[in-house]
Parts: sequence; C-alpha cells; structure tokens
Amino acid sequence: MQTPGPAIRTTCPYCGVGCGILATPDGAGGLAIAGDPDHPANFGRLCVKGSALGETVGMKGRLLAPQIGGREAGWDEALDLVARRLSETIAEHGPDAVAFYVSGQLLTEDYYVANKLMKGFIGSANIDTNSRLCMASSVAGHRRAFGSDTVPGLYEDLEQADCVVLVGSNLAWCHPVLFQRLAAAREARGTKVVVIDPRRTATCDIADLHLALAPGSDGVLFNLLLAEIERRGLVAATPENLVEALAAARAMGPAATGLADGALRQFLDVWCGSNRVVTVYSQGVNQSDSGTDKVNAILNCHLATGRIGRPGMGPFSVTGQPNAMGGREVGGLANMLACHLDIENGGHRAAVQDFWRAPRMAERPGLKAVDMFRAVGDGRIKALWIICTNPAVSMPEADRVARAIAGCDFVVVSDMMARTDTTRLAHVLLPATGWAEKDGTVTNSERRISRQRRSLVPAGQARDDWRIIADVAARMGWPEAFAWDSPAQVFAEHAALSGLAGRLGGAFDISAHAGITAAQYGALEPFLWPQSSRRSGGRFFGDGRFHTPSGRARMVPVVPRLPQPVGPAHPFRLNTGRVRDHWHTMTRTGLSPRLSRHLAEPFLELHPTDAARLGLAPAALAEVSSPHGRAILRVLVTDRVAPGHPFAPIHWTGETAPTGRIGALVVGLPDPLSGQPASKSTPVAIRPF
Ligand code: SF4
Repeated sequence: MQTPGPAIRTTCPYCGVGCGILATPDGAGGLAIAGDPDHPANFGRLCVKGSALGETVGMKGRLLAPQIGGREAGWDEALDLVARRLSETIAEHGPDAVAFYVSGQLLTEDYYVANKLMKGFIGSANIDTNSRLCMASSVAGHRRAFGSDTVPGLYEDLEQADCVVLVGSNLAWCHPVLFQRLAAAREARGTKVVVIDPRRTATCDIADLHLALAPGSDGVLFNLLLAEIERRGLVAATPENLVEALAAARAMGPAATGLADGALRQFLDVWCGSNRVVTVYSQGVNQSDSGTDKVNAILNCHLATGRIGRPGMGPFSVTGQPNAMGGREVGGLANMLACHLDIENGGHRAAVQDFWRAPRMAERPGLKAVDMFRAVGDGRIKALWIICTNPAVSMPEADRVARAIAGCDFVVVSDMMARTDTTRLAHVLLPATGWAEKDGTVTNSERRISRQRRSLVPAGQARDDWRIIADVAARMGWPEAFAWDSPAQVFAEHAALSGLAGRLGGAFDISAHAGITAAQYGALEPFLWPQSSRRSGGRFFGDGRFHTPSGRARMVPVVPRLPQPVGPAHPFRLNTGRVRDHWHTMTRTGLSPRLSRHLAEPFLELHPTDAARLGLAPAALAEVSSPHGRAILRVLVTDRVAPGHPFAPIHWTGETAPTGRIGALVVGLPDPLSGQPASKSTPVAIRPF
C-alpha cells in the first residue's frame, strides 16, 4: 500500500510541452495533481488533461499479469517464449523478419534499450515508432537544412517575439500550456499572432490574422514569402542553395493558396516587418506526403533572413507526444542511429557498434511505420513486438493494419491496459508499468530533459518496459550488454554514448551526465541539451554555424506538390486532428468522465453548404467512407471548416457507437523523404446513415 505524500516532482505524460507536475499520493492508490511552479516549461500551469491525471490512475482496465494465448502465465514463461520465438525467427528468416513498433509515450530509457537490442544485437533497423506519424517530416527537414535534427529555439522565444506565426498547429488544444504562455505574452507585449490553417480552430481566438489557406498549399505560401523577402532586400545570410531556392520561390504564383490578395499581403507585411518572428509548425505541416518540403519551405525563410537561434526568432517544430524528442535522441526511428548519429554513415555505425560491443549492427535503415505494417501484412515480418501503442486504431489504413497484425506468425504486445484494439491481436501480452509507476526521463519540444518519477506502486505484476526488453535480450544470449539494475544506469550509458556522438560532430551531447549516480538521477533537475564539457543548453545556430560539412545552413529549393484532386467517388477531403480533452486512443483520458464531458463522442465537422446538399441535419449520423474503411459520425454543422473539407477527431475506437475509428479511413500515403503519412488529406464519401 502506498503511503500518503509528500509531493513528487514528475512530468506530464501527454503532449510535447512537457509540463512539470507535483503528484501527491493520497495513500489509497490515488494522486493529487498540481502544476510544478519551478518547472521551466509551465511554471505551475497545467491544462485540463494534465490536471485530470489523478482521475486516470488506478486499476480499472489494467493488464495485471502476462498472458500467453489468452491464459495467464508467469513472467519467466512469457519472457522465455518471447526470446525463443524472436531467436528462432532470426535464425530461420534473418534479422529483418523481426520488427519492433514503439511509441513516443515511452521513456527515453525504455526507448534506448529497445533501440540497442534491435539495431546492435538483432542486427536490423526494423524499429519504428508512432512518432513517425507525428514529426518525422520535421526531422527530415531539420537534417536537410541544419545537417542535424536540432530544434534551434526555446519556448521563451514565443514570449519574446514580435510576431508568432502558427502553421498547421491548433496550439490552443494540442499544446495548451504553451498556448497560454503565448496568450499571456500577447496580452503583455502586443505580440502579433497569425494562424495559418484551413480550419478556424480555437487557436484563432487570439489571432490577429487567420489565413484559411487551401489544404496542402503551405509550401506555396512560404515560397511566396521567400520571394517577398528577396524583393524587400531582407536576405541577410548566405546559406548553401540560396540562389536556387530564391529562383524556385520566384516562380510561384499565389492562386494555389486560395487566399485573397489582402490577407496574403497582410501576412507578408507582418512577417517581413517583424524582426523577431517565430514560425511554429506542427501536424498540419508534417502530416503530408510532401511534409518535408513544407518544413524546408518554412526553414528557408528563417535561414535567408538570419532569423534563427536568437531571442524571439526561429522556426519551431512542436511535437505531439511527451517523448517524441527522446525517441529521436536514442535513434528510435528506423532511419536513425542512437544519439542522432547517421545509420547510413559507416563510421558512425562502427563507433556505436564498438561502444555497445554489439555483435551484429544494422547496416541500413529499416522499415518506416507504414511500410513496416505492409511487410507484416505480406509476411516479410514474421515476429512483431508492439510496445506502448495502439496501431490497430492509430495507424492509417487501420483495418489493413489490424488484419496484418492478426495474420502475423508471432505478436507480442507490451501495454498497461488489458483490452485495446491491439492487445486483442497478441499471442503474448506483457503488463507494463504506466505513468506514475515508473522512473525515467522525457524530452520536450524545446530540448528540455525532465524526470518522470514513480509515485505509485506498479499495478499487479507490471514491470518497466526497459526491464522487460533487457530481460528478453538477456535470454536471447546477451546478458552482459543489458545488465542494468536501474533506469539511472541506462541513462548514464546513453549519456556516455552521446559524448562519443559529440566527438563525431553530433549536436546531441549530454555527456556531462555520463557518470551520474542513482542519487543524482533521483534529484535531476530539468535541463536543456546539450550538456557537455563543451556546451550547455541555450539556442542553436545564432552564431551562423550549422552541423553541415561546410558549417553553413542549406536552403532547399522547394517545388510544392499539391494534394491530388479528389474524384467523384470520394469528393470530400477529410482533415483529422486532436480534440482538447482527449489523448491518442483514449486508453487513459477515456477513464476520466470530466474529460469526456467536453466532447463525448466522435463527430464530423461539416460546412453548412455540404450538410444541406447531403441532407444532413445537425446531430444526424453520417457514414464516412474511403477506399480503406468507414466510420459513423455525429454531424456537427459549422463554418469553422471550408466546403468540401470536413474534419474528424482521431481518438475514438470501433467499440463506441457512433464508430469513430478514423484511422480506418485515412490513406497510408507517406512522404517519400520522411515516411510520414498524409493523415490530413484523405478523399472520402459522405452520406446519411
Ligand atoms: Fe500535459 Fe501538455 Fe497539458 Fe502540459 S500542456 S499539462 S504537457 S497535456
């Protein structure tokens, strides 16, 4: 039994803002929740999701013991079976017949161990993450422009800017505390706020200007801005490819944006006229089959003007998940190596192999999420371990993904919940500790590493993910390389490896913590990376030095690709996104009645002219279908969306009625560079249900 109090400093498990929380055990398995006034991400603020965390802990729905084929099993039996089946699959079919699909909800230590096992010991890079759906285009764009996946700025830049432009970001609902900080700064300093989004979201409530641009035309808009920057003589730097990028921008006309001349002119005036400008972007940019180009179109404007890495200036990718950034740091994407090193660089691979004393390094990038599940479906992947995520709901073409998992020879799912759309498909279920039950670190969108701390005893037989993975690795024959006793030791190894990465020219370097003790880890304060003997925290690139071979930034000539036109069979273009009070597939937020009061069921935002044409009254049920699946949704008639461009939230599953499993509809069309699918642009048909 837990003893009451004192308050334990930890970090919210939801969005990438990474707010500090004071969690006080009540002695009966519950927690009182308050914002941590000393955490530099939120200074005591919390949004409704974070403040309701106490309502989402407890035993309801928890997976309490390992299961094999639906029967309860002991840990030894389950771990032996997982290790044996993975080893047999590798022996019979090779390392690429095994895949891990992991999560931006994992702690960095969990992520590190999974990545080490797959890339260094199994010898494949078939480990990818649900963060692929969230910010992979930003990673690819950063690497093209900066030579590294480095977020240049800090949250305080939004408070110091004269103008903040939000592109494809409903910050008010998806990053609420950062939105609160921006709103307070606007109140105090008169910051100009521009929202660029086809949909009029809650974020527009504080906007001086809302540009409801045509879906998918962000690249056109930022090319127009770049051409204007040149016209006004604002080019203040000489990145590589400047001439070519300007030429591509000059070739652009405004028609594709669908914007009126006056609104476009206002945007160009405010961006060009504000020396301190921050361009925040999120899923509306990233979740596109040309997401990487859109990211680079934004970065180009900051690079050309030198408005980057200085107070109140810079492009700013805000991540969806609490630890998408930590996943990037450990190499949790199939096309990256640990500590932001390059999997396609033989020197980097050799250095990591040497550090890990790894027997069998992956030699090429692995399969990214969409392709990974296609490989599961066609039998190339024969053993799949899904950790801390629910792809049977959240992946595009979710019906196809569920069928692929159901048909796979051997599926392991580690989860804290017993019944999800994905746990039902597992041969082996492993109970994992959840938020408040485990120790580790997460990295937020501004590169700040914070501790999550245990405040409750684990439910049933649940174990930490890092330990489960290490126990399987030991049974596969590598006990010494996975012989940690605590997450502090995993963190120390990761920090030591980052020092090696730093010496190879990498930006991610937290080697100051390589010798961290358990007590120091216990008391670790939130800090910005890098933290090494050479550099500590702060912004990147303000000195004009980048991580490319030449040290100069690289602009990318962008020739925007617009979405394919919709056809007569599927004449609407479905946009998707989050709601304010739910998170992902609701396995946690669905436990709080308070959170469900905001929006209680899945819905379809439909423009009045579309609703009238389809004969759909407000609150009627509509059947929405694509070539991949269907959903039944409650109609919400609103002019927040444009005609032909309905919106539906992503959170609900097929169990509820109406059935809101939107992933079933969404097309699995990835960006060719980042592998991030175009989750906001699916052609659909709509009819009364
Ligand atoms: Fe949690 Fe994000 Fe809300 Fe902060 S803003 S409390 S990190 S959900």
